[in-house]
This record gives sequence, structure tokens and C-alpha cells, in this order.
Amino acid sequence: MQFIDLKRQYARIENEIQSGFRKICENAQFIMGSDIYRLEEMLANYVGRKYCLSCSSGTDALLIPLMAWGVGQGDAVFTTPFTFIATSEVVVLTGATPVFVDIDKKTFNISPTELENVIVQTLNEGKLIPKAIIPVDLFGLTADYDEIVRIAQKYNLLILEDAAQGFGGVYKGKRACSFGQVAATSFFPAKPLGCYGDGGAIFTDDDNLFEIFKSIRIHGQGSDKYDNIRTGINGRLDTLQAIVIMEKLKIFDDELEKRNYVAKKYNELLKDKLVVPFVPENCLSSWAQYSVLAESAWHRSELQQKLKENDIPTAIYYPIPLHLQTAYKELGYKYGDFPASEEISSRIFSLPMHPYLTDEEIEFICSKIN
Ligand SMILES: *Cc1c(COP(=O)(O)O)cnc(C)c1O
Repeated sequence: MQFIDLKRQYARIENEIQSGFRKICENAQFIMGSDIYRLEEMLANYVGRKYCLSCSSGTDALLIPLMAWGVGQGDAVFTTPFTFIATSEVVVLTGATPVFVDIDKKTFNISPTELENVIVQTLNEGKLIPKAIIPVDLFGLTADYDEIVRIAQKYNLLILEDAAQGFGGVYKGKRACSFGQVAATSFFPAKPLGCYGDGGAIFTDDDNLFEIFKSIRIHGQGSDKYDNIRTGINGRLDTLQAIVIMEKLKIFDDELEKRNYVAKKYNELLKDKLVVPFVPENCLSSWAQYSVLAESAWHRSELQQKLKENDIPTAIYYPIPLHLQTAYKELGYKYGDFPASEEISSRIFSLPMHPYLTDEEIEFICSKIN
């Protein structure tokens, strides 16, 4: 059994992908071109934003906005320690300091109450200037944007939505990637909308920022190709990947429905045995992961072992919260600083989740757990 079965998905779209690839190869249009702009328009329309800029990865989709804002040395950027390393990595790359905020124990997303506490504490310490918040839409569930936006406005902070896992999710009628001044997503193959390699996209409604993003994506170029007006990166999306994303976008809503069916069935069969995912009212998850809580780390490894014996893959997202990563030793955090993130890290694990899981497979997995 596959954790995310991309082969079944490929079987569904094989002809379209192959003919799209053939066209690109015959025209030798590998960098940029009309397919890239067509994709960007489709994505902007899908999430309900004025602009979309495709780029080389989800990580670069987070980095480019921070560069455009001029975030750097002496700035504080608030995010959660319960996420993939890329979320804080981009902050460090700009020279700014990631300041961690514990998660809500039910949603696993940044806790608005803790966020406000940490902002006030940072202001009182006076060493760093609060600049931006990077809320993460973990496992496909959007963060609590009503509260986050309220706090951001109160303290005059920018919001960069990390929707690498969130694409397709809905919060109070609005799609993931439509929150904050800027949102970033990833097309890494395992994400809800994945391509066949690395890729990402940035979303904004701001004309001026969009122009800066475009420049940074191509080495900081100005109106002339060899006139560079700022430092940028090589941040383009491969045109071949645009073909994959456009084809997958056509079946994405159907896949989203199927993922939600799988999640509902898992919930029904597992809710008496494990803590199943919490989705607040007015939210729709895109189920980047289906993650459950065991009673303890010991219980978790027992269950994972049992499933492995039956050829059922599982994964742990994330075993080590970011404040305890070796790379961040100098930030001075210690075990005990973020109790919710630490406890969830010790109990959480994820089950196979993709739109092509059959009822029999779901029942088989759940019977082994139960
Ligand atoms: C995957 C991921 C990223 C990075 O995306 P890449 O395309 O792999 O660079 C950033 N943030 C989160 C939360 C992710 O899950």
C-alpha cells in the first residue's frame, strides 16, 4: 500500500499529461512562456486573488515575499514550532529571527492567544522589532485567520500565509491562499496539489508587491533583462510542471471531495480508539495529511509497528518541534518552552491519505488499528 498513491492518480491523467509534455518538448519552450501565465491565471482565479506568481518551490514562495518586504536582521517573524523546517528556514535566510509561538492543541495551528502573548513579550524585551506572522495551514486545515488578522492589525504586523499544505482548504467561505497580504503554496508531489518535481506559487492582491515578486523571481531583473535592480534568486517554475499542475487542477475539486470522504470514513471507524482530526465549523480541510493522536509515544510506536507488519505505511509529522532542532540551538529555546507542540509531537502520526483509497483499504487499515 502507498502512503500517497500518485500512481493511481497518474493512470487517470496519463494521456493529458503525455500530450502536454510532448507539446512542450516539440516547441522547446522549457522556461516561462504562455503555459506559465495561463497556470498563474487559473490559480489566482481558483483561490480568489488578484495575482499569482508561480515559482521554483514552496520554500521560495515563502522567501520571495520576505525579501520583497525587506525583512532582515533585527526583525522578529512569528510562527509555530510545529511545522516543516522550511517555514522558519526562510526567516533565518533573510537574517531575521524566527520567534516561535505554541499551537492550539485541537487544531495543531498557531494559537492566537499565545501569539498575542509572545508579541507583547517581544515588544517588552525590546531586542527585536516585530515584523510579520507566518501562520501555517497545517495538514490542510486553515489557521484561525479572524483572530490572526485582528492581532496583526493591532500590532501592525504583516501576514504571510504558509499554505504549502493548505491549498484547497476553506475558512469561512474563503479559500486557503487568500489570507494575509501574501500567501505561499507548494506543488511538491505529496502536497494536495502536487507537480512532478519542485514547484510553488505566491498569491497577493497588491500590485506593487507583485511587481517586486516578479523581479526577485528572475535574479532581481528590472525592465531590461540585464539591468538588475535588486538581489533576487533563480526562482522560476519549470514550464513542464505547469502542464502537470493545470491537468491536476481540472480534477482537483473531485479529488478534494474524495479526500473528505476518506477522512469522514476514517473518523467514523477510529474515533473510539484514537483522537481523530478536529475541523472547526465553517472550515473544509484539503487533507494534506490525516493525522491522529495515540495515547503516548509508546502506544504510537506499537500501532505503527502493527500497521507496518500489514504493509500499511505511516509517518510522523513532526517528530521534533522546530525550537528543539540542532540548527536553532543558538536561539536558546529548551524542552518545556512549547508544551502543546511537544506533547503533540510525541503522540501524533499520519495514516495513508489520498483520493484513491478504496472503502476496503480504509476498513482494512482501521481494523488493524482497532
Ligand atoms: C512542504 C512545505 C513547505 C516547503 O515547500 P517545498 O515546495 O518543499 O519547498 C513549506 N511549509 C510547509 C508547511 C510545508 O509543508
